[in-house]
Amino acid sequence: MPYQFRCPRERCCFELRCDADHEAARLARAHARVAHCDRIAPADLDRWLERIEAA
Ligand SMILES: [Zn+2]
Repeated sequence: MPYQFRCPRERCCFELRCDADHEAARLARAHARVAHCDRIAPADLDRWLERIEAA
């Protein structure tokens, strides 16, 4: 089941899609760190990480 993450920050259109939730979470955290010099709280990550139906 693929996972999708869309960065919720203003003026950021970063998106990723990943087959594994831990991989998507890792990449989302890496993005926040690199692009926003910030961390994502686990609760926020849960909210922003969407499980998407396989096409
Ligand atoms: Zn971002």
